[in-house]
Amino acid sequence: MITIPASYKESQQRFHNDLTVIQTYWPAARMNSHFLPGEEDLSIDWISADPIQAKERLLILTTGEHGIEGYVGSAMLQVFVEEFLPRLDPKRTGLLIIHAINPWGMKHHRRVNANNVDLNRNFVDDFNTLPGLNPDYTLLSPLLEPKHPLQGVFGEKVFFLARTASMLLRYGVVRMREATLRGQYDNPHGVYFGGRGLQEETIFMKDLIHKTLTNYGHLLHLDLHSGYGPRMQMSLVNSPLEKMSARETQDKYDVPRVMEANPNDFYSIQGDMIDWEYLLVKNEFPQMHHFATTFEFGTFGDSLLAAIRSLRSIVFRNQTDQFGASPSALKWIDREYEEHYCPSESGWLLKGKADACLAFNGILKAEGYFK
Ligand SMILES: [Zn+2]
Repeated sequence: MITIPASYKESQQRFHNDLTVIQTYWPAARMNSHFLPGEEDLSIDWISADPIQAKERLLILTTGEHGIEGYVGSAMLQVFVEEFLPRLDPKRTGLLIIHAINPWGMKHHRRVNANNVDLNRNFVDDFNTLPGLNPDYTLLSPLLEPKHPLQGVFGEKVFFLARTASMLLRYGVVRMREATLRGQYDNPHGVYFGGRGLQEETIFMKDLIHKTLTNYGHLLHLDLHSGYGPRMQMSLVNSPLEKMSARETQDKYDVPRVMEANPNDFYSIQGDMIDWEYLLVKNEFPQMHHFATTFEFGTFGDSLLAAIRSLRSIVFRNQTDQFGASPSALKWIDREYEEHYCPSESGWLLKGKADACLAFNGILKAEGYFK
């Protein structure tokens, strides 16, 4: 039965148990940990296994880049280990499975890391060019960065909705979505902040991916996220650097919904991990066959009202983290934020599992990873 782990530690324990399962197929598989500085006993844990005979194909699975999304990620990782791992071909396939790229965010139920950085806006080569890159974010800052504690949730909601409506009339949906979600590099206390420099988690991930994929001819990377897209339908989100169109991806892998990370389909992202990987492969391993995509398990939905609710959850969470909240407002935002990334409805998780199975099956089969 699929379940969400109760805590970061429980999820980590499950991952440690996975190693035993993986070793029945890859006897030399090992668990590794990169500890983050500080008192909290946080680590990026990963399982790596070389193919038994020849380094042909590498499969990378990553979860928890946005910490709190690691709870759904952890549940889907169990689905993968139980149902798909036994079907892979250990002779020709190597594994790199990463549990919680952002362990602090997972432990504390936040998207961002301990420095308020969105790690999926932090895979950047040159930070000097970035400040001022997203001027629309500054225009929207009265909406995105309230400068007082969150209290009186009803009043705050009404005020937020009124302000959003007036900004929508002025700037339109596409421009507003781009301005908020794209990432910003100006205010370290704002939302979707991409950092002023590479974060430790990013440096570590770049190095790990780089050194692991060397010597393989074929790379498949699936990165698990939640919180965006239609509620009862997982979407694949392709990088704008992927040559296949959404339609071609849908046909090749036999999956119902694929989006491209561009302003029309989804939104553009600065400093995205998967985009960084596409550039790495293009520049250093041009002969490698490469496909990488994101699994996005939708939660609130894809209507305009759902988009406003998503934005509100992110803004109020950040407001609370920066300025505090009354006890009742804190209770409300904790629950709302949890629903945003890990819905409590049991039917949601079951549908997510069915969608994940369809996608794992279609992609692993088409990419030649099964025995
Ligand atoms: Zn995410």
